[in-house]
Amino acid sequence: MTVATAQGVGSAQATPSFPVLTLPEAAPQRLEIGPRMGVLTDATRGLTLTQVLAAPQAWQPITHGSPNFGFTHDAYWFRFQLDNQSGQPLPRFIELPIPFLNSVGLYHFAQGQLITQYALGNAKPFAQRPVRHQNFVMPVTLSPGMNQIYLRLASSGTIEATLRVWEPVHFQSVNSDEKLVQGLVVGILLIMVIYNLFVFFSTRDINYFYYVGFVASYLFFHLTLTGYTFAYLWPNALKWNGYAISTFIASAELFNCLFAAHFLRLEHFSKPAFYLLRCFAMCSGLLLILTFVAPYDITVRVGAALTMPITVTALVLGYWRWWRGAKFARFYCLAWTAMLASLMLLNAGKFGLIPTSVWTENASEFGAVLLVVLLSLTLADRINHDRALRLNAQNQALEHERRARASQQALIKAQEAANHDLEQRVQARTLDLNHTLTELKVANDRLQQLSTTDGLTQLSNRAFFDQALVTECQRASRLRVSLTLIMFDIDHFKHINDTFGHPAGDACLRALAGLMRDKIQRATDVLARYGGEEFVVLMFDTPLPQALAMAESFRAAIEAIRVDFNGTDIKFTVSMGVKSGVPDANDNPQLLLAAADQALYQAKQDGRNGVRAAA
Ligand code: GH3
Ligand code: MG
Ligand code: MG
Repeated sequence: MTVATAQGVGSAQATPSFPVLTLPEAAPQRLEIGPRMGVLTDATRGLTLTQVLAAPQAWQPITHGSPNFGFTHDAYWFRFQLDNQSGQPLPRFIELPIPFLNSVGLYHFAQGQLITQYALGNAKPFAQRPVRHQNFVMPVTLSPGMNQIYLRLASSGTIEATLRVWEPVHFQSVNSDEKLVQGLVVGILLIMVIYNLFVFFSTRDINYFYYVGFVASYLFFHLTLTGYTFAYLWPNALKWNGYAISTFIASAELFNCLFAAHFLRLEHFSKPAFYLLRCFAMCSGLLLILTFVAPYDITVRVGAALTMPITVTALVLGYWRWWRGAKFARFYCLAWTAMLASLMLLNAGKFGLIPTSVWTENASEFGAVLLVVLLSLTLADRINHDRALRLNAQNQALEHERRARASQQALIKAQEAANHDLEQRVQARTLDLNHTLTELKVANDRLQQLSTTDGLTQLSNRAFFDQALVTECQRASRLRVSLTLIMFDIDHFKHINDTFGHPAGDACLRALAGLMRDKIQRATDVLARYGGEEFVVLMFDTPLPQALAMAESFRAAIEAIRVDFNGTDIKFTVSMGVKSGVPDANDNPQLLLAAADQALYQAKQDGRNGVRAAA
């Protein structure tokens, strides 16, 4: 320990640059020094204790409300006097609740002697601190009477010297209260980080990742700023601890920008807003990298300068989005508004606008908890909002599908009805058609019959016979069997007509036809009326003797006919010509006819009522 002789220290008077704070017998448990100190700025950072003690004229009173000097490269010396009027040594803790200072030196003089000296700071491992606390806590024993305290601060960040003098037992009890609050805050933030990290893993919604990144960065920023990380997590990582705040500010800003842009869906909402936030995000990302390589005092200033524009932009965009109908932005706005409100509360407390309380002192912690919890709610709200949208869309899709199915059913029914109708019509038309076809067939048959039947006698007519003659000739020629043609003609028929009248002649013709029809029973035989009172019979497979016999029987039967006409019996005879033989394939069937006709002529010549065979 360097022993400094403090000339003038012992005889120091209560001047504005060296104020005296009285500790009466009932000394307060907690004494805020506030601006009641003298200050000496050391731009060279090189002044020693001896040098500052030797330059009493360089000390100035602190004229502004708090001993806060912002970012500075200068070293600062502070001094004040404590008048212990209790008459006995008073153990006290001098606390500097700014955990983030590179170099803290404390010198305690009493009766002109240097009694206690500390050389602390973040540039030294945490274990070297006299009291294991995230802030700089320096125990001193105040001698009865005047005690002079000199403090030297140097930092690459801000310089703030809000000193407190504590009664040690009271300090411990307040400290445990504070730790409880901090523990609660950290616990809540940690739970939010872990919980939302799991939500991210299960939903893969990138918003959760940004949220977790933001909250974790904020949490570490807060813990580093309050000295807890240095105290508990990296007590020996001096270099890292020297710029960790910058790193966490930059990463919090980066995640904040990413979260805002993505959560508020700015890309589809407003391109300028989206690019503005992207620009902020790129700045933050660049800063994040720079924090590892650039000097801390620069990166921390840039980071601090970026905080306000980013926060305000994100908040304004949130309100804009909400105003333009995005309901999911409401908790987002509430979250950031709560955070800003709590910061305003903190500052209002700091500047004495409202009475300080546990709420104002811990306003930033409460604000952070509110922010983090409300942002988490924001995400849940968005999920609900999205789910409602999805459900709605799903319901609509279901409704559409139901309608589509209904119309499909209706279509199928209509198709079935149409098919049924068509089937019935086809059936009806088929019936009609069949009916018509049947009618047509009947008509055709009738026509066929009419064209081949003689109207008076109902025997086959000459056309039919001519056709049958050709067919039978060919068949007989092929089978080499005899074919017989009998041609016969009523004798003196003109006379019957003349005597009894034409209708009587007709009756005779019908009677003859009836008789002959009975006689000709073989299916292959053909009987036809060949002309006026001239008839033909074609008999298959019938040689001449048989044919002649049959002709004779016909003639006899005809001779026996008696036609009753108006009470008079009319009788008549026929003359017959018979031609039999196996026809040659090349024979003209008409020759057969001519031969039979010739034989008939012969029968007429021979006196009628007789049968003659062709030569
Ligand atoms: P032949 O013994 O030489 O055959 O004497 P014919 O009188 O029978 O011969 P002719 O050829 O001179 O007369 C046939 C008559 O038959 C003439 C015609 O008026 C009559 N005739 C022809 N077709 C019909 C008919 O369908 N009905 C009636 N009633 N008479 C008919
Ligand atoms: Mg005739
Ligand atoms: Mg005749």
